[in-house]
Amino acid sequence: MKYKETTDYSFLLDGNYYVYDHKEDMETLHIFIKSRQNKCRCPKCGMESRKLHATYKRTLQDTPIRCKQTFLHANVYKYECLNPGCDCRVFTEELPFAKASQVRTDALNTLVLGVSMFLSNEGASKVLGLLGIQISNDTIQRLYDRIEFIDNPDVEEVGIDDVAIRKGQTYATAIYDLKDHHLIALLDGREGEPLKNWLERHKKIRLVARDRASAYAAAISAVLPDCVQVADRFHLLQNLLEHLKDIFKEELPAKIFIRDGNVLDQEPEKVPQIKKPDDAFLDSLHYDNTPPRNPDNTEMTYDNKKHDLSSEQYRAQARSRKKNRP
Ligand SMILES: [Zn+2]
Repeated sequence: MKYKETTDYSFLLDGNYYVYDHKEDMETLHIFIKSRQNKCRCPKCGMESRKLHATYKRTLQDTPIRCKQTFLHANVYKYECLNPGCDCRVFTEELPFAKASQVRTDALNTLVLGVSMFLSNEGASKVLGLLGIQISNDTIQRLYDRIEFIDNPDVEEVGIDDVAIRKGQTYATAIYDLKDHHLIALLDGREGEPLKNWLERHKKIRLVARDRASAYAAAISAVLPDCVQVADRFHLLQNLLEHLKDIFKEELPAKIFIRDGNVLDQEPEKVPQIKKPDDAFLDSLHYDNTPPRNPDNTEMTYDNKKHDLSSEQYRAQARSRKKNRP
């Protein structure tokens, strides 16, 4: 089969791939792509091969376009490794946007994780569904479970902070590489012991920016006595404000009464101030409270939930209205 290159949706791909067809309906968009290359390096021995073995199709869900569920159908080559010393016979061309086992592109996985960060998995699954991404809450959880932190044993400057996994219940200790602030480790709990164990394996650290937790300070001093510990401005200010609040709470009464610019010793007596209605003003309004009349001078009646206006209840209400009138 000969593939004809088109320019449709070509903006999605880099120069190594081209779109040869696309199909769409109300809900979905299918984009068919192919690699331009006809050679590939063996992942085992690194030798380049041009010997095609077979082709097969990979279907990947991608970030949605115009809220349509979008799929990339990639025609992928399989090559034969021609190195007689290599035990890999056949290998598959890799796609730069999705590893061999993935059914979603890296871009889509990033979007899913980004949205679910602020929602429950179930909520995220619904919101993503509206955007054109079909993903179950279980799959979102699996994506989360698969996230790994790549530790760097040679790291020299780190930031350490406690984070809440579930507020008030489960805490963890997050360790960042200060160079680019990416997470390199997430330790269980916020006590000093797990941190000590971690520091034992990272003896090159010479600077730690940490929060105010004394457990961290003690752990760092115990394992790396020469390490410089920095408390960041946020935590210093937080510390200071908390102390100031405690002092104010102790020194100041809960309520302070001020009258005419003077602080009173005790709560002043409340004197109600009642304003008498201005009768002259009310009379000047000439408010007509009589019911409206029909052209034949009969009283206009209005629909009422209760139509029996001559009932005892209504008459009693009318009497009390009359009585209360000033
Ligand atoms: Zn090989």
